[in-house]
Amino acid sequence: MKEILFISDLHLSQDYPDSLSRFKDFASNLSNEVEQIFMLGDVFDFWIGDDGAKALGHHEIERLLHNISSSGIELFFLPGNRDFLVGMNFAHRTGCKLLPDPSVLEIGGERVYLTHGDALCTDDIEHQTNRHTMLSSKWRVAFLNKSIDERLETAIALRKKSESSKRNKPSYIMDINQSYLENVMREKQVRTVIHGHTHRPAIHTFNLDGIEAKRYVLGDWYTQNSVLTFRKGEFILE
Ligand code: MN
Repeated sequence: MKEILFISDLHLSQDYPDSLSRFKDFASNLSNEVEQIFMLGDVFDFWIGDDGAKALGHHEIERLLHNISSSGIELFFLPGNRDFLVGMNFAHRTGCKLLPDPSVLEIGGERVYLTHGDALCTDDIEHQTNRHTMLSSKWRVAFLNKSIDERLETAIALRKKSESSKRNKPSYIMDINQSYLENVMREKQVRTVIHGHTHRPAIHTFNLDGIEAKRYVLGDWYTQNSVLTFRKGEFILE
């Protein structure tokens, strides 16, 4: 295994031309060493269904993803709370393999827990309630049956609502809950977790029942690329 890259929270949108151009640079300058790329959610600022990609101006991004996957790099897409509606048509168009959130995979001979991260923020009751509603098939079917214009309108309204409610929440509420995380890690028998969502890039080392455990948090792409690289048995956060 040469190199594995992990990215999340690019929040790609025509509204953020800087992140778009950062992603274009990233996609066109990948090293030959890269074998796999894991995208851990909120790659898109929002997603209104695979048939709405053109309306959001994302055909260019899809083409870049397709270039990456056809160059032989394995691309994985695990959905976030903004792009959970990514589906099989997107996967076919881009060559991405869809992963459920969470997923446990073996990386460098070790079990690694991959998640977008919002499910670990259990102190944010409001977010958990909305998450539960929006991940239900009832909500999904009702939303996808609307016209593209109606969906776009709803998505923009939801984004506004979430941004204003975030401003009123203390910052610890929007971070992961450590004891919930530890229980999940025990249950899944993992010592390594990789996630995004909180936009607080860091490597946290802690003791889990006498064993060293690690939580790698990916950063967002608003001001710079944030990439976690697994190379020669080591994770490097850049
Ligand atoms: Mn998120």
